[in-house]
Amino acid sequence: MTFEALGLNTSILKALTDAGYTKPTPVQEQAVPAAIAGKDLLVSSQTGSGKTAAFMLPSLHRLAELEPSAAGKTPNQEMQAARARGERPRFKAAQPKMLVLTPTRELALQVTTNTDKYSVNLRRIKAVSILGGMPYPKQMQLLAKNPEILVATPGRLIDHMESGKIDFSQLEILVLDEADRMLDMGFIDDIEKIVEATPSSRQTMLFSATLDGVVGNMARRITKEPQIIQIMSAANKHENITQRVHFVDDLSHKNRLLDHLLRDETLDQAVVFTATKRDADTIADRLNIAGFSAAALHGDMHQGARNRTLDSLRRGQVKILIATDVAARGIDVPSITHVFNYDLPKFPEDYVHRIGRTGRAGRNGHAISLVNHAEGMHVKRIERFTKQLIPVNVVEGYEPKKSSVAPRSSRPGGWKPGDNRGGAKPGQRSFSKPGSSSNGPRREGNGESRSFGENRGHSENRGSGEGYKGGGYKGNTPYNSDRPRRSYGDR
Ligand code: AMP
Repeated sequence: MTFEALGLNTSILKALTDAGYTKPTPVQEQAVPAAIAGKDLLVSSQTGSGKTAAFMLPSLHRLAELEPSAAGKTPNQEMQAARARGERPRFKAAQPKMLVLTPTRELALQVTTNTDKYSVNLRRIKAVSILGGMPYPKQMQLLAKNPEILVATPGRLIDHMESGKIDFSQLEILVLDEADRMLDMGFIDDIEKIVEATPSSRQTMLFSATLDGVVGNMARRITKEPQIIQIMSAANKHENITQRVHFVDDLSHKNRLLDHLLRDETLDQAVVFTATKRDADTIADRLNIAGFSAAALHGDMHQGARNRTLDSLRRGQVKILIATDVAARGIDVPSITHVFNYDLPKFPEDYVHRIGRTGRAGRNGHAISLVNHAEGMHVKRIERFTKQLIPVNVVEGYEPKKSSVAPRSSRPGGWKPGDNRGGAKPGQRSFSKPGSSSNGPRREGNGESRSFGENRGHSENRGSGEGYKGGGYKGNTPYNSDRPRRSYGDR
C-alpha cells in the first residue's frame, strides 16, 4: 500500500515524501480512506503506531478542499480595519475548523509539530496549540489569526471558550487523542462541555489505547455510526521491547542497581519513571553527581523548562530523563533505548504507555522494572493486562538477598554471570553505595522501600493538588469513576 493509494492530495504526498515516510502504517492504511470519506472513527492504537498522521492527514486533505472562510478576514484583520475606520475594535472569536484534544501539553505540541510538517505545502492551513501554562496574551495573539486547527488540552480550552475567544460553530472535525488518558486524568466533564459546543454535523475521530468501559460509552455517545479500527501490531504488543523485572531488597539496592544498569553500553538514552515529582528531582540530582547527564521532567515545572528539557533530550544533551507519568506522555525520541520503572506505575495501562517511550520508529528497546519484593502482585497485574509474562532477571553482584513474595517460576532470558553488559567499570562511581552517604542525601533516612500505589504528598496526582484517590486497576476498565474529576495543572 502506498500513500498515493490512500487518496491524499499531492501537496500532502509531497510533504510525506520530504518527511521520509515511504508507506503508511497499518492504522493509517485503515483510518485515512475512511476519514477522507467523512466517516466517524473509533480507533484503538498506541502512540508509536503513526496515529497522529492517521487522523491529521485525512483532516488536512478535507480542510484543503474546503472553500476559504466565508468571513474573508481574520479576527486580526477585522480589528485592524475597525481601527482604520476610527471605530473601537471588537474582539471576534476564532472559528476553527478542526479541534484536536489531547491529555497533555507535550502531546499537544507534538501533534502541532507533526501537523506543521504534513501541512507545509498547504499555505492557508495553520495549526496552533492552546495549552495550560502558556501566557494568555500569547494565546490571544494566536487565536486572533483565526487558525484552521486548534490542538488543545481541555482545561485551558474551556477557559477560552467561556471568555468568548473561541466559537466552534464552524467546526468540521473533532479529534480526541488518547481519549482513555483524558478520562483517566479527570477531563470527562470538560470533554462533554467542549463536545456540546460543537455542531452535531461534525466528523468525530476518537483514538484510545482501549475502547472498553467508560471510554467506549463516551465514544458511542459522541460518534455517529463510527467505523471501528483496532490495530494489534507488533508495536502495540511491544514485541520489539525486551521487558524484564529485577527484584530489589530496599532503596539502596535499587539505586545501586539502577546506577549499574544505566552504564549498559547498549544504552543510548533512557527514561526513568518515578511515582513522585520530588523523586524525579532527587534522582536527577544524584545521577548528575554520579557523572550522568540527567534531567527531571514533571508537572511542577513551567512549560518553558519542560520544553527546554525535551529539546535537550532530543538533541542528545540529556541522556537520562527522570520523569513522572503525566509529563513523559507523548515523548517521541527514537534514540531512547531503555525505559526504567524506578517505581511501578499505579495502573497497568500506564506501564504500557511508559514502555512505549522506547522501541520507537521500528527500533528495539528495553523496559526494566525495579520491583520491591512486596510488589510481586502488581507485576502479575501488569502481566494480566498485557497478556505477556515479564521475565525476572538477576545481575551478578546485585542479587536480592530476600526472595520475592510471589516467586517466579521461570527466568526466561535471565542474565547469566558475565552477561551483565556495560556494568560499572572500575573507577566509576555508583551514585548510592550501601552504607555511604557521600553521594547525596539518602531517602527518608532508612532506605526503606515503599509499597505500590502508595500515595505520597508530592505525587504527580491527577486531581487539583489533592492526593490520588483512585481505587486501583479494576478488570480491563482503566477509568475508575472514584478518581478526581478535575485535571491537574492544565490551566
Ligand atoms: P505517533 O504514533 O503518531 O506518535 O507516531 C510515531 C512516530 O512515527 C512519529 O515519529 C511519526 O513521525 C512517525 N511516523 C508516523 N507515520 C509514519 C510513516 N508512515 N512512516 C514513517 N514514520 C511514521
